[in-house]
Amino acid sequence: KHDVHIIGGGLAGSEAAWQLARRGYRVRLSEMRGSGEMTPAHQTDGLAELVCSNSFRSDDAQSNAVGLLHQEMRELGSLIMSAAEVAKVPAGSALAVDRDLFSEIVTNKLKNISNIEIVRERIDEISSDVPTIIATGPLTATNLAHNIMAKTGEDRLAFFDAIAPIVYHDSIDMDVAWYASRWDKGEGKDYINCPMDEAQYRAFHQGLMDSEKTEFKEWEANTPYFEGCMPIEVMASRGLDTLRFGPMKPVGLDNPKTGRWMHAVVQLRQDNKLGSLWNMVGFQTKMKHAAQVELFRTIPGLERAEFARLGGLHRNTFIRSPILLDRQLRLKTAPHIRFAGQITGCEGYVESSAIGLMAGIMLAAEFTGSEVPQPPATTALGALLGHITGDAHADDYQPMNVNFGLFAPLEENCHKKQRKAAITARARTDLAQWIKAHKIAA
Ligand code: FAD
Repeated sequence: KHDVHIIGGGLAGSEAAWQLARRGYRVRLSEMRGSGEMTPAHQTDGLAELVCSNSFRSDDAQSNAVGLLHQEMRELGSLIMSAAEVAKVPAGSALAVDRDLFSEIVTNKLKNISNIEIVRERIDEISSDVPTIIATGPLTATNLAHNIMAKTGEDRLAFFDAIAPIVYHDSIDMDVAWYASRWDKGEGKDYINCPMDEAQYRAFHQGLMDSEKTEFKEWEANTPYFEGCMPIEVMASRGLDTLRFGPMKPVGLDNPKTGRWMHAVVQLRQDNKLGSLWNMVGFQTKMKHAAQVELFRTIPGLERAEFARLGGLHRNTFIRSPILLDRQLRLKTAPHIRFAGQITGCEGYVESSAIGLMAGIMLAAEFTGSEVPQPPATTALGALLGHITGDAHADDYQPMNVNFGLFAPLEENCHKKQRKAAITARARTDLAQWIKAHKIAA
């Protein structure tokens, strides 16, 4: 008999299991790898396998959002962070690990706790009453994905995740770009427009054609593009003017400097409530990251653009969390079910683990009859949870890495150079208070 069923022994599921078990709850952890099943990206049976890079990115908690998230997870007794510490390999200011050792440490830790039962089985159905955490990741097995669709009433779940780049607002040159909606519809501040004359457009088009692209994995190549997910370089390859009739359409956008339409326009749309992040509309791309930065900085107004996220296109399974989940990561229509990890629409190893950690802590509190609210939006954990459970655009919900654009803005004006240090210092204070107020064990 178990208190909770966790489906998926990846990063999020392992962390959630640890958080619940160390608080005394009995966990059944179902992982399909090891039962003759495999995902298209995993290679081993180990729990918390890292499917691609061996890096947890920056470990700098003073000036980097993911570094801060590491720190916050450590404060909350994260298994993933403690295993990473032991399996660490030299990587400058980044935290990188020996992937086999890392997975082995996590697997052994969980195996050696008596109240966790690790069962190698594929789960197709979700129980109707046992408290459950679904942490099956971006490559959730098909039957379960269909069941999740049935439970959530969504008609689409497993699909290509077409990611357009996101730019920090304060890095856009508003002397060149301007706010306007096409044909002056909307609020007038809905879009930021970056103008291009014919020569600039031609050069940009050529740049797209020549840029280095990431190859599709074999299992991705067989999945068709969804409507509206066409990479810009594929559109560009269909003809010089295809983009000018698509995402770079200039019509209805008077350039305030000339009162005329440009040859082409790159539009950015606000991506978070705070207005600190803007996404490049229709700019999903398979170009390599370095090539994106180089080419997109040739766009007038974006010469000094800083990117919160670069574009990408890969198979991903995630739910529309801002609509479907409450702030406790529970499915609103079936609150005994929680979601954790990348399937909630966060992106990355660290973020997925962090949401597993929070799901575990929240469920453990629920078992005691109390509730642990989300950490404040001034912390990395709170900022990430805010993206997942509410603040993001629900209709156009896209996965996100943690980044400073998701944090509550600083109350005092602060020089740009000191801003990150001020945000991380505030986060440390606020997380410490939250930990104290809710008596969360380290
Ligand atoms: P996972 O770690 O994938 O864990 C989910 C687990 O659930 C798996 O072990 C799976 O076998 C199991 N499972 C699935 N369905 C079922 C079922 N029905 N029953 C039982 N078990 C099931 N992030 C980075 O930070 N860096 C990268 O380099 C990176 N590369 C990536 C490359 C690829 C190809 C993909 C798809 C994603 C990548 N990510 C990367 C993104 C993401 O952070 C990782 O996928 C991360 O592992 C997600 O953690 P998770 O716990 O949500 O899912």
